Amino acid sequence: MEREPKKFSSPEPIKVSDSDPHFSKEVAKVAGTDLNACLTCMSCSGGCPMYQYMDYGPHGVMRLIVLGLKKEALTSNTIWRCLGCHTCAAVCPMAINIASVMDYLRQECLTEKLPVGDKPLWEFHRCMMNTARRHGRVHKVELMTEHKIRTMGLGPKAWFQDAIIGQKMILMGKLHVMPSRIMSTGRAQVRKILDAGPWKNY
Ligand code: SF4
Ligand code: SF4
Repeated sequence: MEREPKKFSSPEPIKVSDSDPHFSKEVAKVAGTDLNACLTCMSCSGGCPMYQYMDYGPHGVMRLIVLGLKKEALTSNTIWRCLGCHTCAAVCPMAINIASVMDYLRQECLTEKLPVGDKPLWEFHRCMMNTARRHGRVHKVELMTEHKIRTMGLGPKAWFQDAIIGQKMILMGKLHVMPSRIMSTGRAQVRKILDAGPWKNY
């Protein structure tokens, strides 16, 4: 993954007409976090392991929400590159639950059918949910195979790029060729939970 130049240093002006005054209230309601409390201290971005790969970083996305710049926040690659590690929330002096805000923004991006900020990462999410739907848990070989086909097609690069590391992982017992499934009632429950989200129709 390449380092990402930050968008807030862009010369493009922010237009007041693009601002949705209800957006920060909607986020606060769902995420249980009042983002107006944010001090823009950047502690969250300072501790974020993915900050260098994000277009705004967590503090930048919090600012977009406060400014009501909904589309900018929902199409940002930050929300997809977030690992959900909660480091930001742990260091935030205002106890803002940033990881749950990121979850909400991802859901909203899919619900509103906006372009995702990182297509291959979104495909990874989709493939993970597909394999979890089938088996009730993630089957890594299936996940990697589907992800390669979706993002790289059927060419030789897709099949041989990770062949050596894949062999090593199989020999170390980290990858299993056959999926391990949970019981059918559990699989049905997992499917029900996953199908309730907006991802399936995206
Ligand atoms: S650490 Fe908390 S208060 Fe500071 S910028 Fe991030 S969200 Fe805002
Ligand atoms: S939860 Fe996301 S935004 Fe927060 S520190 Fe981890 S990767 Fe960064």
